[in-house]
Amino acid sequence: MDKSDNSRMVNQYALGDEIIRKLKSSLRVSEEEFAAFYIAKHTRDPFKVLVVTILSQNTAEKNTFRAFYRLEEKVGVSPENILNVDIKEIEDAIKPAGLYRGKARAIRLLAEVVQNELGGNLSKLLEKGVKEVRETLGKIPGIGEKTIDVLLVNWGYPVIPIDTHIRRVSLRLGLTSRSNYRSIREALHRIFREEVRADAHLYLIKLGRTFCKPKKPLCDRCPLKEYCKYRFQSRSVVNFIG
Ligand code: SF4
Repeated sequence: MDKSDNSRMVNQYALGDEIIRKLKSSLRVSEEEFAAFYIAKHTRDPFKVLVVTILSQNTAEKNTFRAFYRLEEKVGVSPENILNVDIKEIEDAIKPAGLYRGKARAIRLLAEVVQNELGGNLSKLLEKGVKEVRETLGKIPGIGEKTIDVLLVNWGYPVIPIDTHIRRVSLRLGLTSRSNYRSIREALHRIFREEVRADAHLYLIKLGRTFCKPKKPLCDRCPLKEYCKYRFQSRSVVNFIG
């Protein structure tokens, strides 16, 4: 690699590095705010991480934790335990997370695949790499790309899962103009170097929860306001009207 290749790579990630620096200097993230991150760190059990991520769909973090711990207490979050009970027991345990019938079905199907196709061991699958993990888990109804990416990033793979906050923030900032899952993920991977993608995931969600709210973004207090396309456009409209 010659010097010009080197400087091109440095330039490619300059914006991402600056965004991470600004976010880290103005926001604090704690592990309890991110259910999957918390469960991954404290259990190192990929099955539990997938279950908690399924539970987290379309609900707040505190409901996710409640549902997860109820499931742990009443059934036990392992493929064997999930397959040993009637699905009604799973539904009842995870009710605090909402959409409990669909989530219970996804958890049950996941347990079947892990038990019957992977010998009860997800860790071995994770050692095989991103492609294999996506192909195997992607076949399970109710396990979407985001759920798989959450597992991957928590197992050290340089992947940015795209949730509703990251989608909104990325579009408003102008980091991407396309709104489908893969396009946003690829755009963010071009901006954030591999080493900071796990942080980018957490801090962009935190930005979305704290400042870049869906209805009334707090642009004047936002640490990224100087880079933001949305803010620039809305100010131009205000100036034009004014
Ligand atoms: S400036 Fe406003 S729209 Fe832009 S990222 Fe910040 S809060 Fe969101």
